[in-house]
Amino acid sequence: MSDRPVRVRFAPSPTGPLHIGGVRTALYNYLFARQQGGTMILRIEDTDQNRFVPGAEEYIMEGLKWVGIHIDEGPREGGPHAPYRQSERKGMYAQYALDLVEKGLAYYAFDTAEDLEQMRKRLEAGGMQPQYDSVSRMSMTNGLTLPADEVQRRLDNGDDYVIRIKLPRKEEIRFHDIIRGWVVVHSGQLDDKVLLKSDGMPTYHLANVVDDYLMGISHVIRGEEWLPSAPLHVMLYRYLGWEDVMPQFAHLPLLLKPEGNGKLSKRDGDRLGFPVFPLEWKDPKTGEVSSGYRETGYFPQAVANMLALLGWHPSSNQEVFTMDELIQSFSLEKVSRSGAKFDVQKAFWFNHHYLLHTPVDEIYPLVLPKIQEAGYTADEAYAKSVIGLVREKVQFASQIVDAGYYFFEEPRGYNEEVVRKKWKPETNGLLQKLADTFNAMDSFGPAATEETFKAWCETAGIKPGELMQPLRVAVSGEPVGPPVFEMLALLGKDRVVRRLQHAAATIVASQA
Ligand code: GLU
Repeated sequence: MSDRPVRVRFAPSPTGPLHIGGVRTALYNYLFARQQGGTMILRIEDTDQNRFVPGAEEYIMEGLKWVGIHIDEGPREGGPHAPYRQSERKGMYAQYALDLVEKGLAYYAFDTAEDLEQMRKRLEAGGMQPQYDSVSRMSMTNGLTLPADEVQRRLDNGDDYVIRIKLPRKEEIRFHDIIRGWVVVHSGQLDDKVLLKSDGMPTYHLANVVDDYLMGISHVIRGEEWLPSAPLHVMLYRYLGWEDVMPQFAHLPLLLKPEGNGKLSKRDGDRLGFPVFPLEWKDPKTGEVSSGYRETGYFPQAVANMLALLGWHPSSNQEVFTMDELIQSFSLEKVSRSGAKFDVQKAFWFNHHYLLHTPVDEIYPLVLPKIQEAGYTADEAYAKSVIGLVREKVQFASQIVDAGYYFFEEPRGYNEEVVRKKWKPETNGLLQKLADTFNAMDSFGPAATEETFKAWCETAGIKPGELMQPLRVAVSGEPVGPPVFEMLALLGKDRVVRRLQHAAATIVASQA
């Protein structure tokens, strides 16, 4: 049904911090929804109380917001299908499982944990798939093998039971995936999965399908790890009589380790020094802290841009996209089937790009704490000029003060390599004279200092290139940095003259 309103959902289980792979899934849902003029829904799938982690739901919401993903309907936003938290919908699911039992498409099963264990062992020993399926179910304790009155007696007695789906023995289940094309699975390979647990709670499969149906979801866009569940979901739609409104599926490729073998894990992040979570996360049980993109100093736009390209290939070579541009250009058809390798250099590259293109006024608040931490006093206009000059050389706003420390204090030393290679016996004398020449200037802007420097070199009979590195190192101590004359102008005449004099004296002393 192509004329259905587009409604997509991101449906995380709050079992811990949201992995960036999950953020990418949410982002693709969001981009698709916005592009199609559709609705983005957040549904919290928290039916498994054993896996509940305090703070995880808030973390998910905060993380999505930080990356720039806006939710239209959700637990906080409300909406026509509220509540959006499955634990608050728990009464809604059992009726569908019971309805299937009545239609003969699902059945009660009374097996104990030991029964199941024995069945698995038996099948494994016989070289068969250890699963509860169309063959093995006939030797278990369930509504298919027990007489009807015995089933009723057990139910009346309050015996523990689950409800399992009754999958056909030999049938091809096929469905179309927007990214993968036609997917065909034989029903014989599948388990009669539990739909309703003994505590009366639905399993993920039942709750997920029922909610997608009730919430009018048109497209299920989710990670590849759910692909094996999709045939079961397709059968559920069929059994429940909802096939004509079954959502279209799009299973996204995995986010892989930088080396490309296997799924990107928290351990990879620890090992290679990059975050795998959007925000910092403190494990409520162990107290262990995992780093986040936000706290590491990434711009949310850089993270969204980077994630968008991990799996989706735009039709042009464009790499930098604003959120609006992503919304315009994104297409599920251009999402690749194969896994996307995480590339930390690319993450740096994106952040650097956004650092260069974000207005200095917005970067200043990120830099101010570093200025204060270092105990520097600098007025706002001066600090902003430093940001403007130094950001070219770093990847994060938080590195600006360190990289350009000599704008706030005297050079801590002089780069040894430059001193060794570029300092000739006459260099200090020349720097001293240059200091005198600068001192005589009235205005000290970048153009004026450059002109004066060049004219002076000519009179002194030296090539400007020969003295450029010594000049930079004498004034900043560093071998690289912003354009020299802009650096001089920002430091100001008095400081530059004093530093040149000091360097001339010090470097002679150190060479003696
Ligand atoms: N609750 C599942 C998860 O945690 C949802 C999978 C789906 O989108 O269907 O990812």
